[in-house]
Amino acid sequence: MMQLFIPLNFLGFVYREIRGALANIERMFDIMANVPQVEDRDDASSLSPTVGVIKFDDVSFQYDKRPILNKVSFEVPAGKKIAVVGDSGAGKSTIIKLLFRFYDVNSGAITIDGIDVRQLTQLALRKAIAVVPQDTVLFNDSIYENIRYGRPDATEDEIKQATQLAHLSDFIDSLPDKGDTKVGERGLKLSGGEKQRVAIARAVLKGAPILVFDEATSSLDSHSEQAILSALRDAAKGHTSLVVAHRLSTIIDADEIVVLSRGSIVEHGTHASLLAQQGLYARLWHIQHEQSDSAKANID
Ligand code: ADP
Ligand code: MG
Repeated sequence: MMQLFIPLNFLGFVYREIRGALANIERMFDIMANVPQVEDRDDASSLSPTVGVIKFDDVSFQYDKRPILNKVSFEVPAGKKIAVVGDSGAGKSTIIKLLFRFYDVNSGAITIDGIDVRQLTQLALRKAIAVVPQDTVLFNDSIYENIRYGRPDATEDEIKQATQLAHLSDFIDSLPDKGDTKVGERGLKLSGGEKQRVAIARAVLKGAPILVFDEATSSLDSHSEQAILSALRDAAKGHTSLVVAHRLSTIIDADEIVVLSRGSIVEHGTHASLLAQQGLYARLWHIQHEQSDSAKANID
């Protein structure tokens, strides 16, 4: 009896671990329900990329014959930070979905460390990328358990280190049960900024070479914004990062900013060079600054 019981129990454990790893990104994105699954090729490699050089090479993509991305090319060298900005509907989130291979491109190619994402198993691909999604899903469990979700076998020390990098330590110290404090149903007890920092800690803990950050659109007070900015800056160290930003102040320090308009890259460069160009980026920047100035005026 005992002999049968132990292996079954063990199998159950293995099953949960594997399911956890697979469900991770899908649940965090919360979009898989509507996504047709792409399939692993028979000869797909299960070796996960470890360096994290991302390259989009002339990528075009359409949803149901509607062109969404048009000949998009950019490269993110290892350890660099690239930002994608543009109006709503420009195709920013689509770039992230294609990097994860939720869909296959219609032409061109996306490679990581020189390997076409279609030549990797989905498990190998997703192991290489940690994501901070636009809307973080938290479970009704402790903060630490929510962070552990990034890598179920992480030690307590590793979790604490991740909370430090995500600038969550002071917040956690202020809670009655510290890291063991439960977050409410769907994380309702945390502010938007705190939730995103939990997601940053989770992503850091995963230990993937690539970090993808899809900034939440909801407005934040300037203290929360600063906390997220510092968390993101520390979390990105040693990672290749791809940041979709709505607040341009988030990405001033990016090595390269790609400006997307209706699926095409219309400008790219650093913050300073784009401002000097006086094109779309400069216009977006000035609009945001006038908005925040008038918001301040309203408060005053
Ligand atoms: P952004 O993130 O820049 O706001 P998206 O990449 O989400 O833009 O979307 C780009 C365009 O693709 C939008 O016009 C959007 O309506 C369309 N789109 C997004 N997802 C789907 C989908 N699953 N099916 C069809 N069209 C989609
Ligand atoms: Mg988007």
